[in-house]
Amino acid sequence: MRVAVVGGGLAGLSAAMDLSCDFDVDLYESRPRLGGALGSVERDGYHVERFYHHLFRGDGVLLRLIEGLGLDDRLDWRIGTTSFYVNGEVHPLNTPIEILRYPHLSLVDKARLALFVRSCRGGGHERYDDVPAPRFIKNELGDSVYDSFFRPLLRSKFGDNAGRVSAAWVRGRAYVRSHRTYRGEVLGYLRGGFQSLVEGMRREVETRGGSIHTESPVAAVEGTGDSVEVEVAGDTGLFDAAVMTCAPPAMERVLAGFESDVKYQGVCCMLAAADEPLLDDTYWLNLTGSHPFGAVIQHTNLVQVEDYGEHLFYLVSYNQSQGDGNLVDPVDEVAHRFLAGVDEMFPGAPDVNWWTISRGMDAAPVYETGYLEKIVPPRLGDGVYAAGMFSRENYPERSMDGSIRAGLRAAGALRSDLND
Ligand SMILES: Cc1cc2nc3c(=O)[nH]c(=O)nc-3n(C[C@H](O)[C@H](O)[C@H](O)COP(=O)(O)OP(=O)(O)OC[C@H]3O[C@@H](n4cnc5c(N)ncnc54)[C@H](O)[C@@H]3O)c2cc1C
Repeated sequence: MRVAVVGGGLAGLSAAMDLSCDFDVDLYESRPRLGGALGSVERDGYHVERFYHHLFRGDGVLLRLIEGLGLDDRLDWRIGTTSFYVNGEVHPLNTPIEILRYPHLSLVDKARLALFVRSCRGGGHERYDDVPAPRFIKNELGDSVYDSFFRPLLRSKFGDNAGRVSAAWVRGRAYVRSHRTYRGEVLGYLRGGFQSLVEGMRREVETRGGSIHTESPVAAVEGTGDSVEVEVAGDTGLFDAAVMTCAPPAMERVLAGFESDVKYQGVCCMLAAADEPLLDDTYWLNLTGSHPFGAVIQHTNLVQVEDYGEHLFYLVSYNQSQGDGNLVDPVDEVAHRFLAGVDEMFPGAPDVNWWTISRGMDAAPVYETGYLEKIVPPRLGDGVYAAGMFSRENYPERSMDGSIRAGLRAAGALRSDLND
């Protein structure tokens, strides 16, 4: 039995790992490197993710995979400190005292917020799929919590789509981020970079007899009922089944007859290095106000700077439309804009040693109201299966763990259909 896997991110790699135990698997990835959204850049002597990444205590399947690949000795749990940048000031929001001191929310608002986060631990987020987040937050927590806390977060993540995002996403996000100690949020990282996870998965696929083809964009896929035709670089191969893991807008261009209402948003992310940290004690800085980017992530305040020999930070902006300047302007221009934003926010900011920009329209689904109805199922018919950020496992927020689970579920569905 021959199976094609389209896409070499975590969903494609986990499906390929699973299926290569029993079938002849060919995985096709359009980019030169595997990893998809988790892909890395290589510097002198180290790898680091092109987009910021950390994992959470609740990522059970990802943690088991890390253990299974023998990488658990690299896993490090750290406090990921968070701050808010308001009117030119950085306010840490980690310890109870810092939260109490935060001047832009009243005591009552803070108490409501704490109770809300607690209530999200109960799950059941899908019940809020049809409720717009702004209305929900204003009803539950009041206008001031919405205006000063959630509105900037929603805008920085979803831009003009912020008003359409569902309360399910807000609750899911609050739940994921509620694993805290009295010092702040507990986040995990694989020292040496998640590149070792991607490499480990690649090795497993190949050891089990699968073949991986990078720089191999799939141009067309068509399930005929008897077989699945997959066209790559002008050649059409015949397979018994295919697993699609590219984003639905890309899938529509490739897979015959496939249509989806899932909207995707883009991201433009600068990774930069400097001899000094940009932020003192903060890992994650949320921004309120108008800036060229929506958050600053000081990677070397989560991961030891000794692993790199220089300080690394990310500047990230989420984009809603393909034509957005950050996605289409020459990278030098975008970099200039981002670094000018840094200088304006942090006078005396350290000089940047080097930077790189990664961007694209496949950052995440827009979790708008009614999204549950649009979720792409694992079985698309005629021998074609699907898994990715758009799958049920990544609702109401996408994650590495969710994409691995989605890949495994699609592989399970395929195996059970082929064995029938
Ligand atoms: C900015 C950012 C930050 C994130 N931070 C975190 C985090 O901190 N923690 C966390 O858990 N998750 C995080 N995530 C989410 C996590 O990275 C994703 O959920 C996961 O990596 C997605 O894997 P995937 O395989 O579903 O999709 P992708 O990684 O998008 O993989 C799809 C692959 O398909 C390929 N492809 C597309 N079209 C074709 C074609 N025609 N032919 C061949 N190949 C094709 C693409 O090149 C890509 O490699 C983040 C994501 C982003 C964008």
